[in-house]
Amino acid sequence: MKSYEKLLEGNKLWAEEITQLDPEFFKRLEALQQPNFLWIGCSDSRVPANEITNTRPGEIFVHRNVANLVVNTDLNLLTVLHYSVEILKVKHIIICGHYGCGGVKAAMTNNDYGIINKWLLNIKDIYRLHKTEVDTLGTEQERYDRMVELNVREQVINLAKTSLIQKCWKEEQRPFLHGWVYSLGNGILKSILEMPPGSAIDPVYQFENL
Ligand SMILES: [Zn+2]
Repeated sequence: MKSYEKLLEGNKLWAEEITQLDPEFFKRLEALQQPNFLWIGCSDSRVPANEITNTRPGEIFVHRNVANLVVNTDLNLLTVLHYSVEILKVKHIIICGHYGCGGVKAAMTNNDYGIINKWLLNIKDIYRLHKTEVDTLGTEQERYDRMVELNVREQVINLAKTSLIQKCWKEEQRPFLHGWVYSLGNGILKSILEMPPGSAIDPVYQFENL
């Protein structure tokens, strides 16, 4: 069997299994999606949103990119964010990073990765912002791990900087923002930062008259 055929065979088995357990499952989802969560995670194949949270199709709206970044000029991310907040009305947004993230590691080097440099620049900026703290850590591993955590933290704050989130916080007291880090080593998620609706943000980022 060719490698990709395994996926199609796997799909048949999966659909049969679900239909046996819950005959109406696909009909229900075909009619409507009502996820409570938006997940912004890393594209890394080892960190799939549904599997690691033990959830099923229909429960999480997902956006993934290299190193789970929230970049304010990224039309793809902004479209997903806008759609999930305004139309799907999600109650929670989760930024999920992971230890051992290749994107964070690459950003900490001086290697030239071509066009990828432009994306990684966002992580280099976070390092510069937290250089004093990160450089006090004794080993390279500790510095990478801390950068993964700080990256998640800054991406949650990037969400809170948007007028979209600030307006929704004010008018509808949602969504709750979460920053999590996943361990490839033991499969466990750790909370790094929680920002409930109305959380304080630096005044320079606050919009008036929303
Ligand atoms: Zn990653």
